Amino acid sequence: MDFKLSKTHLLQQEMYRRFAVNEVKPLAEEMDETEVFDMELLKKMHKYGLMGIPYSKEYGGVGGDYLSYALAMEECSKMDGSTGITISVHTSLACSCVDNFGTEEQKQKYLRPMIDGSKTGCFGLTEPNAGSDAAGCQTTADYDAETNEYIINGGKIFTTNSGFTDTFIVFALTDKTKGSKGLSAFVVDREMEGVTVSENIKRMGIRAASNCEVSYENVRVPAERRLGKEGQGFKIAMKALDGGRIGIAAQAVGLAQGAIDEAMAYVKERKQFGRPISAFQTTQFKLADMQTKVDAARLLTWRAACVKDAGENYSKEAAQAKLFASDVANQVCREAVQLMGGYGYCREYPVERALRDAKITEIYEGTSEVMKMVISGAMKVNAK
Ligand SMILES: Cc1cc2nc3c(=O)[nH]c(=O)nc-3n(C[C@H](O)[C@H](O)[C@H](O)COP(=O)(O)OP(=O)(O)OC[C@H]3O[C@@H](n4cnc5c(N)ncnc54)[C@H](O)[C@@H]3O)c2cc1C
Repeated sequence: MDFKLSKTHLLQQEMYRRFAVNEVKPLAEEMDETEVFDMELLKKMHKYGLMGIPYSKEYGGVGGDYLSYALAMEECSKMDGSTGITISVHTSLACSCVDNFGTEEQKQKYLRPMIDGSKTGCFGLTEPNAGSDAAGCQTTADYDAETNEYIINGGKIFTTNSGFTDTFIVFALTDKTKGSKGLSAFVVDREMEGVTVSENIKRMGIRAASNCEVSYENVRVPAERRLGKEGQGFKIAMKALDGGRIGIAAQAVGLAQGAIDEAMAYVKERKQFGRPISAFQTTQFKLADMQTKVDAARLLTWRAACVKDAGENYSKEAAQAKLFASDVANQVCREAVQLMGGYGYCREYPVERALRDAKITEIYEGTSEVMKMVISGAMKVNAK
């Protein structure tokens, strides 16, 4: 067992850190205030390979592993949670569905443009009445044998990146009588007739990320755009979410570490009672607790990434990492605001944004309650 990053991973981490400090940090506050993601930044994220880290060079990806992807997620999220989720939804949700279940032809047609930088992807599973119970989707995809097309009708909510993406991975029922076994996955193009994207949904945090409702009205999708077999949609979605949870755990670690770094700098400067507040033992102990929790969350995240990279089943490890890291991010960001007093509460300081951004890590890609269902299920707690 080796708890150290390899030389290659250290170099990658350094590279992602530089990108985050030079390109993400200067834009983060303004993007949060305006609630708009900077499209020039998105282009740079594609250009520097941040949108295709764990994908094969054969398709235009970086050819890195999931640990490398987790490092990128941490570094970018340290500066901005919205940048983190923009990378994550594209990489571990949209691209992975095509990578895992697409045919060679589909990979060339739909995966390659998403990782060579010409297109960006999103993932539409959640509906107004189907959140934690994703199997409750009501969007339908009726097959038209005459044209060899599916006709998609329905609506998705909270589709991250959908305000600007080209490629939509959409889950719809090809058989309404079969519940989750009747769900199929499709690659839909933004330009297809009948696709309508709403305005950005106003949110508490990750405000720069794009997050909209998407409606599909008689959208005709050629059958060759179906991923996997009919009825495989639920499996495709769950597999993508397993990987996605490692990214969200890394996002949570990044938000928390970023808040610690800000608080550390502040407590050394801020003087009260004639001394820097870093001289008070309560401050020192608080930071010691915060860093210990973040280190533990990072180790769980790296473990999950390594188990995935080893080709083993990693559902439980990914859920554990997300459950723990998201809780830690919320505790640590709250403590960072506390350490910085009234200034920490002001929008001028990034810890306020980190606290707002941290909350969502306990909700999306499966709530903390759903993570406990996955973990206890893997532990067979309820088995005879
Ligand atoms: C900012 C944002 C971005 C998102 N991005 C995407 C995206 O890109 N693509 C996508 O498809 N979805 C996305 N989502 C949807 C997200 O994954 C869901 O919001 C999440 O899965 C929870 O579903 P829900 O909001 O409907 O809550 P509900 O499922 O209604 O849950 C409400 C509460 O009930 C609890 N609960 C539900 N069932 C149980 C149970 N069996 N036992 C115990 N407690 C339970 C939940 O844990 C939660 O606390 C996003 C959401 C947000 C807010």
